[in-house]
Amino acid sequence: MAQKQRKQILYPPVVAAHISRELGDLVAPYINNQREIEVYFSLQPNSRPHLGTLTTVSSAFALAYHLKARFWLDSKVTFEALDNAPTMKQEVNGFTYFKPMCFTKAGEETLAEKNLASFVHFMKGIQQKSNVPYSVKKYSEMQKSPEYRRKLLEILDHEKELSGFLNPLEKSIKLRPICPTCFYGEKSGKLTKITRENNDMKLGSSCFDHGDYTVDISAKGENFVDLNTPVRSVIRKALLMDESKKGSSLKIMVDGSDWIGMSQQLLPCLGMLGYSIQDLPVRFFSPLIEDWAGSKFSKSAYVKKGTYEGIHPALCDYGEFQSSLGEEGLDLIWNETLEWVLDSKKFFRNYTVDYFTQRWNLDSRD
Ligand SMILES: [Zn+2]
Repeated sequence: MAQKQRKQILYPPVVAAHISRELGDLVAPYINNQREIEVYFSLQPNSRPHLGTLTTVSSAFALAYHLKARFWLDSKVTFEALDNAPTMKQEVNGFTYFKPMCFTKAGEETLAEKNLASFVHFMKGIQQKSNVPYSVKKYSEMQKSPEYRRKLLEILDHEKELSGFLNPLEKSIKLRPICPTCFYGEKSGKLTKITRENNDMKLGSSCFDHGDYTVDISAKGENFVDLNTPVRSVIRKALLMDESKKGSSLKIMVDGSDWIGMSQQLLPCLGMLGYSIQDLPVRFFSPLIEDWAGSKFSKSAYVKKGTYEGIHPALCDYGEFQSSLGEEGLDLIWNETLEWVLDSKKFFRNYTVDYFTQRWNLDSRD
């Protein structure tokens, strides 16, 4: 294929890049007496990852690697896998029902496990380059812990005030129990009935196939409950802050830049739950990968056939990424994201798929 004329890449000045050379400059005031750095990121393993997911994951590792070298502290990465992501939606009597991925079978394993395998494959590759250890925490496990349940109950105690920030359109906190027989839950949470006595809580709902059911969601219970994203996000931050107070490890969250719009909403909620701004985890938003129009490069848009026609398949799907770029692909992503964290003007911005097509010469590859 004929080589297209290469376009110039510009790095116009942005605020955070005026006050820092690398991300470590921004983390320095938080280091104090910390003995360790923990970098957290969270994603839904709802398919094999695409470029946007791979760069977020690699940015988290690159940050942990950079901070370890800069501050001479151990660092590690935790991947919070949102295996509650909805699959198999069904419309019945005007209600949408979904099955969480961790309860959806894909052969011998669950769909969540099947999809997680490609994330783990990628993380093992990046771990070898970074020498940063990582662990995976699944939502289905995290939500069972007494701390998680207690925080949920606390949020419900403040439902009126918090829902104005977390769900301003409906002004309610959505709790979604799932049917113990078929594992489908009702998505809007409108069928959910809460019975609560102090720390004992039961959630009732109605399955389109198995009728009414009730599940015990008290602090000692282990049943599964699905929450909508903003509520989960408040609990996630709150628990990190609780943990920070106990130990001497600095918690840092890395999320894609599509989270910026939501981040402000979470802060007053944490204040209402009694948290101090001093204890907030450090949070970085990694560059968003965009299509030509500046829209988020989206896996769910990709699966709608033809949406990303003309974009190299290696950018759309990790399987294609591996077959097109092989081992070199890992180097390309790792080097790219390391460059970002080591240069603020490269981190505090977004990148288009065209940028990667040119940078990695994808047009001249198969
Ligand atoms: Zn059912």
